[in-house]
Amino acid sequence: MEPQNPAAESRAAKMIREVFESGRPVSYVRTSEEQRVAAVLRAVRLDGDVLPVWTWSLTEGFASQDGVREPGTGDPRKALDFVVAAQGPAIFHLKDLHEPLRDHPEIRRRLRDVYDACRDRRKFAVITAPVRYLPEEIERSVAFLELRPPDAIELTDFVRRETGVPPEAADRAAVALQGLTIDESRYALRRALAVSPTLEPECLPALYQEKKLLIQRTGFIELIDDAGRLEDIGGLDILKKWLLERRKLFQLRETLAAEIVPKGLLMMGIPGCGKSACVKAIASCFGLPLYRIEMIEIFSGRHGKPEGAFVEACKMMEEMAPAVLWFDEIEMGINSTENAGEQGRMFAFFLTWMQEKTSGLFVAATANRIDLLPAEMIRKGRFDEVFFVDIPSQQEQIEIFKIHLNRRKVDSAGFDFQQLTTFTNGWTGAEIEQCVVSAITRARLADRPVLEHDLISIAAKQVPLSRTMKEQINHIREWAFERAIRASANQSGR
Ligand code: ATP
Repeated sequence: MEPQNPAAESRAAKMIREVFESGRPVSYVRTSEEQRVAAVLRAVRLDGDVLPVWTWSLTEGFASQDGVREPGTGDPRKALDFVVAAQGPAIFHLKDLHEPLRDHPEIRRRLRDVYDACRDRRKFAVITAPVRYLPEEIERSVAFLELRPPDAIELTDFVRRETGVPPEAADRAAVALQGLTIDESRYALRRALAVSPTLEPECLPALYQEKKLLIQRTGFIELIDDAGRLEDIGGLDILKKWLLERRKLFQLRETLAAEIVPKGLLMMGIPGCGKSACVKAIASCFGLPLYRIEMIEIFSGRHGKPEGAFVEACKMMEEMAPAVLWFDEIEMGINSTENAGEQGRMFAFFLTWMQEKTSGLFVAATANRIDLLPAEMIRKGRFDEVFFVDIPSQQEQIEIFKIHLNRRKVDSAGFDFQQLTTFTNGWTGAEIEQCVVSAITRARLADRPVLEHDLISIAAKQVPLSRTMKEQINHIREWAFERAIRASANQSGR
């Protein structure tokens, strides 16, 4: 099948075309994805022309694009002779030539002849190998390339070639596959086709499952699939309104000036008031997968130097875009207590990365001890907004009670919530949820429906976090007062 849009050029095709256009006749691509390179080479256009592609391997010798073999070219020396002698423009894809290059001086010498024979004749030799082996004498003549994972254009073409589904379904699947290699995508597609042969939206969890396996290998990035909904969060109306507006801008990102495309937000506040729940809701509200970077894992030392692991995580996420990226407890990794050395470099990297990262990543950072974060982190420009999530007001508490009761199918139509909230002064959303769970447990044990009284009697006994941590909470509030905007219009004031 032809590419869906022949004018659209994938990132990989562009990289190879630019190397060819610069006149480099011999390239070395480090990759284990030979088939993918073969597909890209067939798609490369030079001055509008697609060049014929010859493919060589030690076992099969040279074969044309139509699969016709060139007898006697299995020997590497003969293969290079074939390239030297070939007339007319062409691309010669040499699979795993690194082995003969390593072992035979004659092959190294002949590759230099290939260089001269191809130069300025629109003949290009492309070596692919899973490892980098470039003998010193040819290193300077060869363009060394590394393929990044396929982009949306390449993935969409791949999905269309493999499945023949309509463009909309192919686009949808390509977004979900973003960040996987073509081989990994093939496995994921097979899983998805078993769920829906036309790749309808219900196949997406199967695609994400494969991705989850890939991500888990890193040990410090997690794909979160228990996304929540914005409607399941009580209160926080200012934050919700802001998110719905940013969603619109984010979806238009390809057509907007970079400076108005939302980059992300920083949420700080009292533990248990819904920051994590909000991040999960952002992902589903934006219709994107959610990845969490575990700062504690990065600093564990289990993945090499923290700085390297952090940079790798950020780079890897760029390949996963479009996505929401969550830095949980960001102050654990980037803080001002120890700004010299590694922490300082990580912080500097993060600031630059936030400015330059791909527009398809929306960053959601959460922090409990925001006062540990360096001032530059909070300054405008890094994040679009810094929100402070406080203890819910009385009205918000009622909303949260109702959400958790409804979610657990408890009929609360006759409950007097005003009265209930006189017992929940200073409670967090997490404490309200826990109260609901305890009331349900109590009712189940007594084999009867949940009563308003269950909630009240549990509430009357509980000492909320805000009372035991009064001083810390006041400190966070004072700090946030000048530096962040409130996530909710209803101040708890309690
Ligand atoms: P932490 O910093 O301790 O992780 P957090 O601010 O991220 O806390 P969450 O983990 O989001 O808090 O909250 C814990 C649970 O409490 C959530 O899973 C959710 O069920 C409930 N909860 C908290 N706030 C709200 C809210 N505003 N609306 C509905 N549920 C809430």
